[in-house]
Amino acid sequence: MIYFDNSATTRVFNESVNVAVKYMTEDYFNPSGAYAPAASVERNIDGARKRLLSALGVQSGSIIFTSGATESNNFAIFGTIPSMRGKGTIIIGGNEHPSVFETARELEKLGFRIVIAPTLSNGCIDTSRFASIMTPDVKLVSVMHVNNEVGAINNIPAIRSIMRTIAPNALLHVDGVQGFLKVPFSARNCDMYSISGHKFHAPKGVGALYVANGVRISPCHIGGGQEEGLRSGTENVPGIMAMDKAIEIYLSNQREFIGNMYNVKTALAKRLSRVNDVYINGPALEEGAPHILNVSFMGIRGEVLLHALEEKGIIVSTGSACSAHKHGKNRVLESMGIKSDRQEGAIRFSFCPFNTVLEAEETAVKIEELLKFLRRYRRR
Ligand code: PMP
Repeated sequence: MIYFDNSATTRVFNESVNVAVKYMTEDYFNPSGAYAPAASVERNIDGARKRLLSALGVQSGSIIFTSGATESNNFAIFGTIPSMRGKGTIIIGGNEHPSVFETARELEKLGFRIVIAPTLSNGCIDTSRFASIMTPDVKLVSVMHVNNEVGAINNIPAIRSIMRTIAPNALLHVDGVQGFLKVPFSARNCDMYSISGHKFHAPKGVGALYVANGVRISPCHIGGGQEEGLRSGTENVPGIMAMDKAIEIYLSNQREFIGNMYNVKTALAKRLSRVNDVYINGPALEEGAPHILNVSFMGIRGEVLLHALEEKGIIVSTGSACSAHKHGKNRVLESMGIKSDRQEGAIRFSFCPFNTVLEAEETAVKIEELLKFLRRYRRR
């Protein structure tokens, strides 16, 4: 099988599996326990917290372990905004994941004004237009680091500096799910940053929210007071420690991993761009994230090509698993000004460090063969 859907989820590193098993079968103690083995588990979790801060390029702040980025994004928005006195404006990126987009819409019901930041045709937030929508009453800006459908990388430092001049007290939350480890970055400019383990070879059901010092955030779960009282509930120790291991592996091979993914993406893009009526959606190859390539094949429906490829053992997607084609439209491609026939034929290829150029070439050959056949039924 050729697996090109790594933005949806990844295979867990063997080393991370082993770590999880160890914390399930040997070091299974509740970190809140009063005896020595429990205290040792607690110390290990705290070690993971410190290492994650350093992986984010910051020296201080809190890491709250969560069940993944949907929870981290909900927590960042619901935890900071409703508790602020008064109403105000919240700005979100035009291409946000539903866990930000739909959460912000909930706040509209509480009386906040939601403004959507305009997108450029390459999928990035248009920073000059962002400056024009930024107003002094903005309480929160929530934008993604890297877009999950086309791999566009947002200019977070530029967004932060515009915020500083117009609304210096506004908080900046960044959904870092697709960017963390794959696009080197420092969370120094952010008040909050969300990550999710299963996007970088850790298990599903574990993630984190980084919260900078001084940010006032209310608990998302109330109970036993774990995670600084902000997220009660016995910690997912196997998940947290397996994620810690995955981060360690990624960081110690980061340049090579990123280089490999770029090579695979470039090889596939170059091969496909020789085929008739094929368009790449999103930023120029060298400007986008290394692991995401979005391509439109005109004259066929993305789902049809997806299933034809699946029959040949090649797994791809037509967009993000969570937001693909609601109401017949792809919200992300739509915001980039991409017309509906091109939206219809869109396929997302997403890579991990273990994919190869050979796999990219094999995929391109199969696609070419399939297109010849499938396009015979093309609508005119
Ligand atoms: N944000 C982005 C950009 C994502 O791609 C995803 C996963 N599709 C999420 C948030 C949600 O992450 P999780 O699966 O950990 O809830």
